[in-house]
Amino acid sequence: MAEELELAAGNFIYDFITEDIAQGGKYEGKKVHTRFPPEPNGYLHIGHAKAICVDFGMAERFYGICNLRMDDTNPTKEDVEYVDAIKEDIAWLGFHWDDRFYFASEYFEQMYEYAVELIKKGLAYVCELTPEEMRANRGDLTHPAVSPYRDRPIEESLDLFERMKKGEFEDGKMTLRAKIDLNSGNFNMRDPVIYRINRMKHHRTGDTWCIYPMYDFAHPLEDAIEGITHSLCTLEFEDHRPLYDWVINHTSVPSVPRQIEFARLGINNTVMSKRKLRQLVEENYVNGWDDPRMPTLCGLRRRGYTPASIRNFCERIGVSKTNSVVEYSFLEHCLREDLNEKAQRVMVVLNPIKLIITNYPEGKTEEFDVENNPNRPEDGHRTITFSRECYIEADDFIEQKVKGYNRLYPGNEVRLKSAYIVKCTGCKKDENGNIMEVYAEYDPATRGGDTPDGRKVRGTIHWVDAENYVNAEVRLYDNLFTDPEPDTGDKNFLDYINPTSLVTLKNCKAEKFVEGAKVPSNYQFMRLGYFCLDKNSTPEHLIFNRSVSLKDGFKKK
Ligand code: ATP
Ligand code: MG
Repeated sequence: MAEELELAAGNFIYDFITEDIAQGGKYEGKKVHTRFPPEPNGYLHIGHAKAICVDFGMAERFYGICNLRMDDTNPTKEDVEYVDAIKEDIAWLGFHWDDRFYFASEYFEQMYEYAVELIKKGLAYVCELTPEEMRANRGDLTHPAVSPYRDRPIEESLDLFERMKKGEFEDGKMTLRAKIDLNSGNFNMRDPVIYRINRMKHHRTGDTWCIYPMYDFAHPLEDAIEGITHSLCTLEFEDHRPLYDWVINHTSVPSVPRQIEFARLGINNTVMSKRKLRQLVEENYVNGWDDPRMPTLCGLRRRGYTPASIRNFCERIGVSKTNSVVEYSFLEHCLREDLNEKAQRVMVVLNPIKLIITNYPEGKTEEFDVENNPNRPEDGHRTITFSRECYIEADDFIEQKVKGYNRLYPGNEVRLKSAYIVKCTGCKKDENGNIMEVYAEYDPATRGGDTPDGRKVRGTIHWVDAENYVNAEVRLYDNLFTDPEPDTGDKNFLDYINPTSLVTLKNCKAEKFVEGAKVPSNYQFMRLGYFCLDKNSTPEHLIFNRSVSLKDGFKKK
């Protein structure tokens, strides 16, 4: 772990920034200033968490600051519902933007002015090619792009651009293009469109605008207006960096941000595109954006993921320049590690069957003092009760011994965790052969689970006092897809939905202790895994979600 952290500390973004802010470096004397720019058109997912950790984390590391900016320049896709959810998720991860919360749409007026500046400098022109014509005139590696409007007089472009803004032309009729290089080997530089006409209502500016800036023009301006020093983004923008720099260098913006790209996070066993996640929600394959099977941050939170586990995951996967897919089991590994440290241990029986201790006095109750978390003595102790009848897992008993099975079968001894050693004496069945009750005798000399004579007892099972318990519903979650790569190639991810990704158990028996649980509550149900209280749980109807099982499926390669 220490080794991995060191590696992350020395990543290439860190090195670039270190050089930039060094004596004589580009940003001498300037505080590192980054931003996280989500488009408010969906909920944040684990991929965004990586970007958040990079953006906010890098600023933190250099004692700098990070802005939260809603990148809402595209009016067609945004929804106000998402803004609050995005803020909640980032705050939950433990990052702060203080009062530096912005909407890119706040800069529309300034962006317009910068576009006018480009026209006046002869560096932009109004083009009347239709989208199809523009595509047909893109050229190829041996032929330049063509636009018959490229050399129209500056005055004419200024006039037309103003009339575009006033709404004199229909959607798609004209564009404003940057005049860069029709011959460029980088097609992003072949006079890219920087403004288009689009009569869509914007969720913040309403009908004020009918022209909107393109991302590649807007983004560098947003960064420069906010005084961002380092604009960290994902790899797909690498080929757009020359355009980013061009916009910065040819407009009179107040600062000169530097774009640095890093690889996107991909994880197997799930899908991460917003469109696909929305489809899962809208077509009811899951129960909402925060369904515990979703890779969204609200889904992971409801599943029982802790902020520390996600930040630790992002730290350890590091940043690189090559896209790769991380094992879902590594995310689970990071959660397990955190919960192993922090989660309170309790006993809960998922598939109960009664165990009757036939030689234990009727009506008697004993109390046992048990540790809340062996990894954290400071978490103290609690009392559990024991009486003649308790619940155990149905599969902790079999009638006929099989090789390797160390739990209850007639004649065998097991330890009831923290209580006594009991010896199985048989069971009762109904007319269909279903096991109704299991019988055992306890050894009073083994109180607390010790074997005074040192005899070997191989199995230890969990149990819950049948005189003192609460009922609970437990939801067992599994991978949402049956295929580890549900959306690669020409696969349709919907064909691989796992029909048993949610199994609900309604008759679970839990220690009374969990009755007072409040969200977020993470527990280790002994021998079963880590579970958390669901947000819809009430004291009358307790609901727990399985976060992750105990068995670690992550293999170090
Ligand atoms: P869209 O395809 O709708 O643009 P997006 O995933 O790019 O989706 P944004 O809201 O634009 O969504 O993302 C905000 C930031 O998060 C961007 O800087 C983007 O690069 C980053 N980001 C998104 N997905 C990932 C990912 N899987 N790994 C790392 N960073 C990501
Ligand atoms: Mg995006």
